[in-house]
Amino acid sequence: MIVIKFGGTSVGDAQRVAQAIDIVAARQERKPIVVVSALAGVTNDLVAASEAARGGDIERVNEIISAVRQRHEDVAMRLVQQKFDFFESFIRQLDKQIDQIHTILHGIALLGEITPRARDKVTGIGEKLSSVLFAYSMMMRALPGEHVDSEEVVVTDARFGEAAPLMDQTRAAAERVLRPLVDRNLIPVMGGFIGRTCEGAATTLGRGGSDYSAAIIGASVGAEEIQIWTDVDGLMTCDPRLIPAARVIDEISYVEAAELAWFGAKVLHPRTIAPAVAERIPIRVLNTHNNAAAGTLITEQGGTQGAGPRAIAVKRGVTIVHMTSNKMLGAHGFLASLFAVFEALEISVDLITTSEVSVSVTIDDPRNLPELVRRLAPVADVQTLADRAIVAIVGRNLMRDSAVGASVFEAMRGIPMSMFSLGMSGLNLSIVVDETDADRAVRTVHAALFEAPVGAAQ
Ligand code: ADP
Ligand code: ASP
Ligand code: MG
Repeated sequence: MIVIKFGGTSVGDAQRVAQAIDIVAARQERKPIVVVSALAGVTNDLVAASEAARGGDIERVNEIISAVRQRHEDVAMRLVQQKFDFFESFIRQLDKQIDQIHTILHGIALLGEITPRARDKVTGIGEKLSSVLFAYSMMMRALPGEHVDSEEVVVTDARFGEAAPLMDQTRAAAERVLRPLVDRNLIPVMGGFIGRTCEGAATTLGRGGSDYSAAIIGASVGAEEIQIWTDVDGLMTCDPRLIPAARVIDEISYVEAAELAWFGAKVLHPRTIAPAVAERIPIRVLNTHNNAAAGTLITEQGGTQGAGPRAIAVKRGVTIVHMTSNKMLGAHGFLASLFAVFEALEISVDLITTSEVSVSVTIDDPRNLPELVRRLAPVADVQTLADRAIVAIVGRNLMRDSAVGASVFEAMRGIPMSMFSLGMSGLNLSIVVDETDADRAVRTVHAALFEAPVGAAQ
């Protein structure tokens, strides 16, 4: 069994859906399970519709939702046109879902507020629509696609907006629902991004979460491979939108890929790797628009490359929290009392640097910041610096070649750094800069490490 996941741009229009279906058809003998994202841009539309509903702007809600509906109808019309009964049946399903969205959005508009639970219900509908559409389109092409409601399989906790899977329940559901279909040579087609709590409430796994769904489903059925089909040739030395000279990495380890995803490489959802690692399942990142390319293989070993820098990622919208002990010297228990506050507010920290009397950390979610500062006040003087970016250079045993550190610092000449950290694992060298300097820093460091001969270890 393999899991084949298509991202939003891979199912953006009728031609792309057709390409994606060809990719599935060519892998039929490997017993695929298909996971699809919402059509490109639809989740953003649904978020915008929720916000419009909250503001009571029903006209805008109707406008957005009817555009979403039309888009699905158009794709279906082009793909399913020859078989009118398929088309009719799809439109009935589409209208059922659209009615549901309207009901929820009107409820939100009446109340003038949106709960995380209601937001998940609305944003998850993009994947419901795309997966039904994909399954119909497969049947149209005489492929044995079988739509499966993801909520029937992916059981999660109740952290709406960022739910995590309950793997035992999910595994049991996958055995019950997916395995019998695959055994009958059917191809299950599921929406990514969505799940359901044990109590039956719809949840989502966080933006970009369809990759995570693919890994959760792959781990649940013990798949031999998880394929993430996207719009670039694989995991690259940097985001090619930022660095056109970025190169594809042919093989990389789980730990390196996880680090890159965590530090902002959007090509993989940060939590994707964990379920695959737990079951030692290889992940392949492939290009739907160039399916001859070999892509990137992510495994435990990560190939024969060994030490050195592999890629650079950048995470924007970061805030530095600088805390100085107000008892002057690093009193016993200072760190524990600081982190107890982070723990209580469920704020996760990316980087930490310390000195005798002060600690600096970066956080990426400033929502609880005022409360954090208030609760830290009894133990520390707190200073916050917003609008920063982390530039992370990732690779195993990164600094083994001393030329690497020298090249990085030479490249950073003239760009002020506000924090700097080299993890003990030697897996990432992270530099915090002003957000306005981030692009420049990434370009110059990428050029030094991957485009110039010195330290060019990829
Ligand atoms: P999908 O819709 O398929 O999930 P995403 O937009 O979420 O696609 O992720 C693919 C995008 O990730 C690429 O178009 C690319 O711009 C971006 N990206 C960021 N960092 C990297 C990287 N290191 N390698 C490849 N792509 C990257
Ligand atoms: N459709 C969801 C999003 O846009 C999930 C995904 O694409 O992975 O965030
Ligand atoms: Mg994505």
